[in-house]
Amino acid sequence: MKSVPDRVVKTLEKKGLTGIAVTLEEESLCLKGMVKNHDDWLKAGYTAAAFPCREVINDLAIQGLEPEKDRLPALSDSLLEGRHFDAVVIGGGVIGCAAARELTRWDISVALLEKDGDVSCHASGRNDGMVHPGFAAHPGTKKATYNVRGNKLYTRVSEDLGVPLVRCGSMLLLKNPLYILLIPYFFLRARQNGVEGCRFIERRKVFQLEKQVTRKQWGAFSFPTAGVMSPYRTAIAYAENAVQNGAEVFLDTRVRGFRLEPSKPGKTRLTAVETNRGTFTASVVINAAGIWADRIAQYAGDRFFSLHYRKGVDCILDKKTGALQQRATGMPELFQLRAKTKGGGIVPTTEGNLLIGPTAEEIPYREEYSTSQTDIDALMSRLNLNRALKKEDIITYFAGVRACTWKEDFIIEPSRKVDNLIHAAGIQSPGFASAPAIAEDVAAFAVEALKLQRTVMENRCFNPRREAPVNPRNLSPQERTKLIQSDPAYGRVICRCEGVSEGEVRDALRSSVPAMTLDGIKRRTRAGMGRCHGGFCTPRILEIMSAELKEPMERLTKRGAGSLFFTGLTKETEPKKAVKGGEA
Ligand SMILES: Cc1cc2nc3c(=O)[nH]c(=O)nc-3n(C[C@H](O)[C@H](O)[C@H](O)COP(=O)(O)OP(=O)(O)OC[C@H]3O[C@@H](n4cnc5c(N)ncnc54)[C@H](O)[C@@H]3O)c2cc1C
Repeated sequence: MKSVPDRVVKTLEKKGLTGIAVTLEEESLCLKGMVKNHDDWLKAGYTAAAFPCREVINDLAIQGLEPEKDRLPALSDSLLEGRHFDAVVIGGGVIGCAAARELTRWDISVALLEKDGDVSCHASGRNDGMVHPGFAAHPGTKKATYNVRGNKLYTRVSEDLGVPLVRCGSMLLLKNPLYILLIPYFFLRARQNGVEGCRFIERRKVFQLEKQVTRKQWGAFSFPTAGVMSPYRTAIAYAENAVQNGAEVFLDTRVRGFRLEPSKPGKTRLTAVETNRGTFTASVVINAAGIWADRIAQYAGDRFFSLHYRKGVDCILDKKTGALQQRATGMPELFQLRAKTKGGGIVPTTEGNLLIGPTAEEIPYREEYSTSQTDIDALMSRLNLNRALKKEDIITYFAGVRACTWKEDFIIEPSRKVDNLIHAAGIQSPGFASAPAIAEDVAAFAVEALKLQRTVMENRCFNPRREAPVNPRNLSPQERTKLIQSDPAYGRVICRCEGVSEGEVRDALRSSVPAMTLDGIKRRTRAGMGRCHGGFCTPRILEIMSAELKEPMERLTKRGAGSLFFTGLTKETEPKKAVKGGEA
């Protein structure tokens, strides 16, 4: 009987992929060598993943492709030098922020480290915000279990954090009358995953529920537990509540390595975390680094998986379209029902816009957020799911990248090699929907590891309720008048499209996880998210930022290092010095 690596090599050769060395490392299959292109790289990874193994480490080089360069950190100082934290969370996405908040239920010191200038600026700020029901993931996977649990937990999380959750429901529209034959299979899958309340809705009834739905539908399978939330507001709210309960958030802080020492035979423990802001000790570390989680695992000597990167592009429609559709709809092709991604569709948002997307395209680099005509064409075909939507309704596009393992499932477990390291890796979709459940488990793993080192008591002062910022638009006219009388800044509207006031912009700059960039303000207040997309409000917001942050305008950025607003002065008569090398 041939070994698994030999069988993998044979299968790869049959597929025309020759010269690839396959070894078994810590029960994972490791691929080394060179392939001609990115398609072959993907083919090799997926081929290996179909064999029995823990995970796949795809170290194949791609001919002619430059290796990805790490961006240099914006800062370098010694803020963290010599400090100690009981628990350190790496990554300020929704998983890291939620985990940090869960950890503050305990009487321990907690630090959340984010390499960029704000939390939720990668996948967690670039997604559809769907609290999926948990149907799409294959039964028995971590994705299915965490999604269904996360979906239920969000009711409480939304109340506690003051982030609206709308249980709008979703409908999987049937493209073909023959698909009705699949309904018993859909019910079976829903039962296997524990998704409650699903039902089949006939064509006629679908038209009654969604007046503008495409005429080309043949009924729908409906999921009443599906909902939507603002994904970035959720992550920010988690981080703010963590800070309100004693955690410290360090932005612009990139983990660059660890110090390790042997513990038991064949095992190690992390003793120190190395960052651009100093080296410090930590009793337990959570790896929630999104698309870079394999890199963090590598720093810890525990790289038993590698990631591939699946970009998704969405378009945002004008708020006026919100009235044209209540539920999320999608119409997958038959082959997509078994595919690795759900295929996208139309998704309402809590703010009233509709989103169309996301697409799914494998890309060779991690943080690559460009959008192309091909993406736009793909999105246009989904616009037709609603007869009333027009291309002119589109305000803008955005892209995010999903962090996928080759087995296409989440990795949520304590490291088998490093005593005090917990992985929350490969958190692709439905990672947002699963976040509350993932956070509960990784925090529990961390506390278990801590309890082996010291006594851990509950944090008696833990307050799950976040002090949410004032939102004048949620107030009655009388309450709003009173608010403006007490603080006129809430009456000075800065963003006319979204009706955001100066007071809200100021609050975002003073919050417990303050916005330091224009995008940070946008995520917290929605200023700049409307039809004009910042055309009118940007200069005014920059003035407020400059005054609040006590920084000259020339140093303000859109999204952190490398995104300065101003490159220099246009009039020579001004005595101030110009700043070089920024983005206009
Ligand atoms: C287009 C698109 C649509 C999606 N739609 C949905 C949806 O509707 N519903 C759903 O459930 N899921 C959805 N997802 C998936 C969801 O966005 C992700 O599963 C989730 O956001 C992952 O969160 P995360 O915290 O693991 O990763 P991230 O949000 O990427 O956070 C990881 C963070 O770690 C930081 N980091 C990395 N390396 C370091 C380091 N060395 N030091 C310090 N910090 C570091 C990064 O800067 C980053 O901020 C979608 C994804 C995409 C791309």
